[in-house]
Amino acid sequence: MSPSPPRVLPLVLQVEHLRRIFSKLNPDLDPQRIDWDITGKGPLDPTAPYSENHQNMENAYPQYKWFETSKDRAETKEQAIEEYADFLDYLLGLAVIPEAREEMKPVLEKALSDYKYRTERDIEKTTLRKTVKKLEEQLLEAKRTGKTQTEIIKKEIPKIKKETERPKIPKPRLLPPPPETCPIEGTHLSLLTRIPVKGPVRLTEEEESFRQAMHLPTLTEEITWIDVPPTLKVWVCEAPTPHYFERSADGRLIQRTQEYLYKKILREAAKLRKITAPLPTLPSIGLPPTHRPTPPVVLSFQRWLRQIKNMYFTEYAKLSEEGRKNMRDEYEKWVSNNIRGLFK
Ligand SMILES: [Zn+2]
Repeated sequence: MSPSPPRVLPLVLQVEHLRRIFSKLNPDLDPQRIDWDITGKGPLDPTAPYSENHQNMENAYPQYKWFETSKDRAETKEQAIEEYADFLDYLLGLAVIPEAREEMKPVLEKALSDYKYRTERDIEKTTLRKTVKKLEEQLLEAKRTGKTQTEIIKKEIPKIKKETERPKIPKPRLLPPPPETCPIEGTHLSLLTRIPVKGPVRLTEEEESFRQAMHLPTLTEEITWIDVPPTLKVWVCEAPTPHYFERSADGRLIQRTQEYLYKKILREAAKLRKITAPLPTLPSIGLPPTHRPTPPVVLSFQRWLRQIKNMYFTEYAKLSEEGRKNMRDEYEKWVSNNIRGLFK
């Protein structure tokens, strides 16, 4: 008899349900600001049941409403603990050979009590789940091929012990500042690490010397991406022609042009790198341009879907296999055209 683990609802369906809950409880917010990644790179864990992923989302985005009532939240947590207990039961009873069960039992009990501890305190459980899941996979593989499980157990038990013995100190549930929107058209604002700028921009002598000292490219009519130094904070909205903002000391948004920000970045970066202005006699024209290729501007597949195809990843996931392939081909073509365009 082949052991079959308790079934987990496919993540695509979990996401559908979670999106519905998010939209119902946060009707004014755009679900697009949530990371719905289903490959395990975001807060959603493809190996976890719905009850756990529901909590994962709340832990990742505590500023939004994820449960209708506190009773709902408590019940979801209880359910997650029960489901994890079921999973460990199955693991001990079916995946572990009888001779090894004595040794495994206390370890899995520890895993369960750690799971409970984390659930009650809203601490992530993904690492614990992955460690135990890896053990399960190895045990099943050994069972299938008739190999001994003893060595696997010897190797994996310390990992689970380590994972469960030092529960992380719960993070205080400090709420991040409320989500901000563009005062012009109301789309979501996000913090930028680079800003796109286009030439021509007239620089002062001092600014030009900073630019050269930092080996930044001269601006052309093509877009150049300039890193925002860590001491500056620049926000951008999601409008087709985005608006850029800084914040005043009292938190108000101040709109800035890209040219303004470019100049400010030059000064700020020079300050950070302790580059001082040269003697004022330095000519500002006729300087040899420092030419460096700009880094390629490549959107990730998911961003490309959103920005170019106006499609959510979950919608893409629902396409036929052929439809998905066509979409990926189109994306690859777009990327290679884009890169070629940049270096031409
Ligand atoms: Zn805007």
